[in-house]
Amino acid sequence: MTCGTSRATLFCLLFAAAGCTSTHQSQLRRFEFSQAQMGLDFRVTLYAPDEATAQTAATAAYTRIAELNAILSDYDPDSELSRLSQSSGSGEWRPVSPDLWRVLAAGQELARQSAGAFDLTVGPSVNLWRRARRQQALPTPDLLAEMRLRVGHTNLLLDAAGRRAQLVRTHMRLDAGAIAKGYALDEALAVLQRQGIDRAMIHAGGDMIFGDPPPGRDGWTVELPQPGATHQNVLSLANRALATSGDLSQFVEIDGVRYSHIVDPRTGVGLTNRALANVIAPRGITADSMATALCVLGPQGLAPLLAAYPKVQCQITVGIGDGARIVTSPGFDRLVVQP
Ligand code: AMP
Ligand code: MG
Repeated sequence: MTCGTSRATLFCLLFAAAGCTSTHQSQLRRFEFSQAQMGLDFRVTLYAPDEATAQTAATAAYTRIAELNAILSDYDPDSELSRLSQSSGSGEWRPVSPDLWRVLAAGQELARQSAGAFDLTVGPSVNLWRRARRQQALPTPDLLAEMRLRVGHTNLLLDAAGRRAQLVRTHMRLDAGAIAKGYALDEALAVLQRQGIDRAMIHAGGDMIFGDPPPGRDGWTVELPQPGATHQNVLSLANRALATSGDLSQFVEIDGVRYSHIVDPRTGVGLTNRALANVIAPRGITADSMATALCVLGPQGLAPLLAAYPKVQCQITVGIGDGARIVTSPGFDRLVVQP
């Protein structure tokens, strides 16, 4: 039995400015920052006129990410998300902050659109699989059934007018692990933009957000993770988010079966379909959550989700080796600069 530990490495090929097109652009220098946030390495790359401007902007972005972690973490028992979980079954409506509201509302919308494949209430089942990884042993059928009773997006009620939420059953546990980093990327980029930094990209644990491209270029050049492929697709992206979900680095393997850290909320079992989803969307919150949903749904879930989210492009791979099947959305190929 083995247990994966390191996150998948997304290669981002960032080229230095070449052939700058204006005096203003030629005055920009490239700066890179790295800081641990949300249990991930958040890497900021930006173009600024000088180091002080770059440093101030990056610090403000990291401050915003830390603020969001304090709201959205399911590891921190004092986060707003955890406190809402602790109120489950009390019959009480709890007021929620604007940030938590945006995440809950987007998550519930995707839960509906994905027929429950994406589920913010999946926490009890996720915890079982975290324990399975630590103990290198499958959860018992009894525990799987017990935890599944605590899961279900219809047990999370939202009241938009009052900006409040209620968890209907007892012992429910919200988990924003599949959506929070995407939202944090959106918000961190917005902070940079408010500081006058438009040419920036941020990378966090396999998810990325891109603002305007580096000076003199049309986009940020990114190599997509495609394990086992003989060549990698290279994309050029600007003002878009890219998220990758799958079992590349977080899984437990027992008796030759790999169980992903992504759980099918409808069965309570870690995915065994070997799915990998790359999603490109206008916003990180959409890309992050949809990549997770598409791993659960597989290629057959693609068409209904694209109908609901028409600005999304994606590529899903299921299976490995000769049996692998790759499905892409209709506009995906237009993003590929080097097939
Ligand atoms: P990601 O790496 O974005 O695919 O997110 C995976 C994380 O989201 C897991 O580690 C869990 O914390 C949580 N999660 C697992 N399965 C689901 C699911 N079906 N819906 C929503 N969140 C999930
Ligand atoms: Mg995700």
